[in-house]
Amino acid sequence: MRVWNFAAGPAMIPLPVLERAQAELVDWRGGMSVMEVSHRGKDFVACAAQAEASLRQLLGIPDNYRVLFLQGGASGQFDAIPLNLTGPGDTVDFFNTGQWSSKAVAASKRQGPEVNVIVDEAASKYTTVPEPGSFQTTPGARYLHYTPNETIGGVEFGYVPQVDPPLVADFSSTILSRPLDVSRFGVIYGGAQKNMGPAGLVVVIVRDDLLGQARPDTPEIWNWTVQAKNDSMLNTPPTFGIYMLGLVLDWVKEQGGLPAMAARNQAKAEALYAAIDQSGFYTNPVAPNARSWMNVPFILPDPALDATFLAGAEQAGLTNLQGHRSVGGMRASIYNAMPLDGVRALIEYMTDFAADHG
Ligand code: PMP
Repeated sequence: MRVWNFAAGPAMIPLPVLERAQAELVDWRGGMSVMEVSHRGKDFVACAAQAEASLRQLLGIPDNYRVLFLQGGASGQFDAIPLNLTGPGDTVDFFNTGQWSSKAVAASKRQGPEVNVIVDEAASKYTTVPEPGSFQTTPGARYLHYTPNETIGGVEFGYVPQVDPPLVADFSSTILSRPLDVSRFGVIYGGAQKNMGPAGLVVVIVRDDLLGQARPDTPEIWNWTVQAKNDSMLNTPPTFGIYMLGLVLDWVKEQGGLPAMAARNQAKAEALYAAIDQSGFYTNPVAPNARSWMNVPFILPDPALDATFLAGAEQAGLTNLQGHRSVGGMRASIYNAMPLDGVRALIEYMTDFAADHG
């Protein structure tokens, strides 16, 4: 039996996608699964090209951007970004809005450039995003890195920063959740395991003019230029992940594309935040203008109730609601694949639980 899975990632995959993969698993294109065919054979090359074409169509990716299908997760890109974009003496800017931005900051420091954290939301305990226009980038900075959605804190930017240096953005937990103007960015990257399919694939979308600048000692598999020249097939790519991405993108198209995703996601998030705010029992600490549509943390009035809440939720078919191990409390991740019905079931359970324990 399928449950409502509120995991932060790997996360729910749409059931029709899983069913199609199941139907095609043993015999995809002639007696073999997609996992058993050569990545250089015509069937898989066409499959990867189709996944890229669907991504380009859905996100409106302009022709002067390359799409790379890589491995090593978003964490690998934390190091690949400075390797590909900085040289001796370069400065890079960062917004620190929580745990994932902090990890990206640490990786850039490790790789050598001068790192300026020009915005740090520590004072609010990372429950806010900076006001548009309230920050200044460093003259000559090679890029400004930020995290449009902090998966652990449940903090999301409702706007794209307007700055001079190229924007490099970790879209792991919010890509495909709403329309995006890709032309505002230098680099967009994200692990697939939330809105794009299974773990093992990371998608990097990079503007042409940012290629060709990698440091000579950059490992080839991290070198975007080398990967672009090789159509992401320098070595064996994560073939099953790319195939699944294609199926997920077909599903997103069938739902009406990103405008339809946005409408669904907004409705889900608003219903859940309203239930939290009106409960007099649960609280969400995030500033209203920075509340994530994808990850909704909430706490109970007494942590002693957490275990009872989670056990009852499991019984009601609502799973993976425990907050990140570093923060505790609860977190409901409600990515594209979570339907409004799943959120309604959660709200119903939360309402009953509050009535019983309030
Ligand atoms: N960035 C964000 C915003 C994330 O949510 C995650 C994973 N939860 C990562 C980076 C790290 O991704 P990966 O595990 O694919 O390296």
